[in-house]
Amino acid sequence: MNETTAPTPKVGFVSLGCPKALTDSELILTQLSAEGYATSKTFAGADLVIVNTCGFIDDAVKESLDTIGEALAENGKVIVTGCLGAKAGEGGGNLVKQMHPSVLAVTGPHATQEVMDAVHAHLPKPHDPFIDLVPAAGIKLTPKHYAYLKISEGCNHRCSFCIIPSMRGDLVSRPIGDVLKEARALFEGGVKELLVISQDTSAYGVDVKYRTGFFDGKPVKTRMFDLVQQLGELAKPFGAWVRLHYVYPYPHVDELLPLMAEGLVLPYLDVPLQHAHPDVLKRMKRPASGERNLERLQAWRAVCPDIVVRSTFIAGFPGETEAEFEYLLDFLREAEIDRAGCFAYSPVEGASANALSGALPDEVREERRARFMAVAEEVSARKLARRVGQTLQVLVDSAPALGRKGGLGRSYADAPEIDGTVRLLPPEKASVTLKVGEFKRARVVAAEGHDLIAQPL
Ligand code: SF4
Repeated sequence: MNETTAPTPKVGFVSLGCPKALTDSELILTQLSAEGYATSKTFAGADLVIVNTCGFIDDAVKESLDTIGEALAENGKVIVTGCLGAKAGEGGGNLVKQMHPSVLAVTGPHATQEVMDAVHAHLPKPHDPFIDLVPAAGIKLTPKHYAYLKISEGCNHRCSFCIIPSMRGDLVSRPIGDVLKEARALFEGGVKELLVISQDTSAYGVDVKYRTGFFDGKPVKTRMFDLVQQLGELAKPFGAWVRLHYVYPYPHVDELLPLMAEGLVLPYLDVPLQHAHPDVLKRMKRPASGERNLERLQAWRAVCPDIVVRSTFIAGFPGETEAEFEYLLDFLREAEIDRAGCFAYSPVEGASANALSGALPDEVREERRARFMAVAEEVSARKLARRVGQTLQVLVDSAPALGRKGGLGRSYADAPEIDGTVRLLPPEKASVTLKVGEFKRARVVAAEGHDLIAQPL
């Protein structure tokens, strides 16, 4: 054979930002691999670099711009995608192009095809793609045993502190047949925990008027309840978990609680509330701000007493009075939010909240955040202490040497990366081993901070 083989073109890839950006990265990497491109771990070793950016808060903008700068310095050929790519700079031009005029191309988020077009233009496609070698579920950046499933893009709300809709546009729901097909491929590929993400999971299907789609030849409505029920059914034969993120407390979310109570999907809801006082919620222009959130949470707990609620909040929003902030703290105590995170309000360039009067000094915002976290920790510690003595199913995330010295995992109450963990003690019996990506029953022996310590059984 005299054929000479051209070297495989190599692409360096940096993925910054939230889980939604991560799924965009996975789609691009899957496509690159399908077309026969290789990836490089270093900028210098690549023929071209793609940076998937985040533009949500000022720190993320800086990190993204710095990374683009480094990639340009070390490699020179850089394509930028992601939220920052959609952001305007001073005078209305593209911010990334203003800061780094030598980048080859800039796209916004959710733009796999445009990114691929730019790659083809600057690093021609290799011949003979090994499309068949790409797994049906695509390339995943998360560990093999859990995966994010993005069900929609964009958002119909206009929260005054957020610029995501101006970067990602209005809600576009993915066809339900595609979403379910991807979920099944992920379970078949070994995924034991599926994390459903979007900007607004409860709004799934609103944009297509809950149109009827098809999965395996059967009609299914593009609607949150139908989606969750189908995902639960798909997960069942694999014994896998389905966890829901970014669910706003609308009345129709109540329909999910029986599914959680019967164990079809995890009794866990990530409900980003941001505040509790009705006037602050109105100034924030929050979805479901008129809903009676405390009563709703209590009703959820009545149907499904095991439910774990995670939420994020903002302290020190413009105009927040001490009384409004105290109201938030009372809500936190009464609603017993299991996992609460809090940001001190920080203005985001381009957000309408910047025009609100009553901006609070940095120290007040920070002081309120600290007070919030102190109460959140009290609530969390009280709730975790009740777990001591319980036996929980734990998904093992790490277990060197088959767990002989113990390992690390999570129960249904812990989403990866954002919640606590379950520290697994070394098994008492030599016959008990721990393996990454497997479930293990464990008895909780203590609580420590946001975590539990448990004895594998
Ligand atoms: S719901 Fe509000 S905070 Fe969330 S993406 Fe939409 S506008 Fe932003």
